[in-house]
Amino acid sequence: MGKWLQNVRIETAYIKKGDFVSGTKTQAVDLFIEEDKVSKIQKHQTIDDSNEKIDGQGYLILPGIQEKHCHFDKSKLGVPWEPITPAPSIIERFTNEIPQLNSLNLSLSERMKNLIEKERQHGVSFFRSHIDVHPKVGQSFLQQTIETLKEYQGKFACQLVAFPQHGMLLSNAYQDIKTALANGADLIGGVDPTVLDGDTEKSLNQTFDLATQFNAPIDIHIHEQGEDGKKTFYELLKLTKESKWQNKVAISHAFGLNDFIGKERKEFFQELADQQISIISSVPLDGVIPPLEELRQYGVNVSLGCDNVYDSWSPFGNGNILEKLSRYAEIFKITTQDGLTDCLELVTGKKTVGEKLWLQEGDEATFILADSSCSAEFVARQSEVCASFYQGNTVFSSQNDRR
Ligand SMILES: [Zn+2]
Repeated sequence: MGKWLQNVRIETAYIKKGDFVSGTKTQAVDLFIEEDKVSKIQKHQTIDDSNEKIDGQGYLILPGIQEKHCHFDKSKLGVPWEPITPAPSIIERFTNEIPQLNSLNLSLSERMKNLIEKERQHGVSFFRSHIDVHPKVGQSFLQQTIETLKEYQGKFACQLVAFPQHGMLLSNAYQDIKTALANGADLIGGVDPTVLDGDTEKSLNQTFDLATQFNAPIDIHIHEQGEDGKKTFYELLKLTKESKWQNKVAISHAFGLNDFIGKERKEFFQELADQQISIISSVPLDGVIPPLEELRQYGVNVSLGCDNVYDSWSPFGNGNILEKLSRYAEIFKITTQDGLTDCLELVTGKKTVGEKLWLQEGDEATFILADSSCSAEFVARQSEVCASFYQGNTVFSSQNDRR
């Protein structure tokens, strides 16, 4: 038994007037969904069989949205407003953070669920969350997160990053991270090995040592700039090659990529592309955003995440990854039909207009339905997500689930 999702529109090609891309063609289709897969895609028509039928109401079908950088354990959503406390450095910020979180009246589980629900309203069906793992918290945050995620089985995919927020070396987190990787964390994280740990080689060696032991990809926060940043970036590149960890290393934030200039810039950006080291950004507005569009021109994989959403680090954020995407396009002055369409890849990992349809028979039935005429409008105008499907099931509907 399967079910039909009828009358959804899928983009097929660009409309061109000479060289000017003036729009996107769409076609109304019906999808037959069996278990977690789309087994048939056909032109929209009247279907007279006994299978369940869902009316897609002519909405645009787009790939499921991915949140690539958040912190389930840090969210204070649901707690009455309080401003962040002053902290002259990242060390004071994270030192104050743990007692602040532990004294909240709302459990980690409730705060995390509030964040998840906000993101799901915007079509998110994949989360990558960093979770603090270090001697100050041990496995506690990770275990609470894993327990809470059990309530969401079948609702979205999730990757958890064992995150030594207090420094791999500075807080002596190696053993805790190792335990986390053995007990449910999927990736190994890190933060500023040069500035925070004070020993780039040793810190990153420990990171790669654990990554290779557990066959875990790496996703490391690097805020370092100038020569400190370069030292970290070059060591990370060297170890990626030595460990053959191509396509398994991501750098979150990567502010310091701005500091590469001239020939060094060209060579390093090309190395990032060649080694398939990806960049994840929260699209900050405070002047440190890396040259993400330039990196994409080199073929570097770039994706986005909300990162802070009302936590001990930042009073801002609303849990809408689509706002970050629209902001991205605005910052990098992407205003054309094809430019905006391509941007959607930053939060879906897929190109929606190309040689063939982005959705093929046999693909996983994970997608959203949007009240939008095309990908470009969806990106620029942050059109409403009307429904979200994950592995064949409706997991969000704006009519029923909007809070
Ligand atoms: Zn982060």
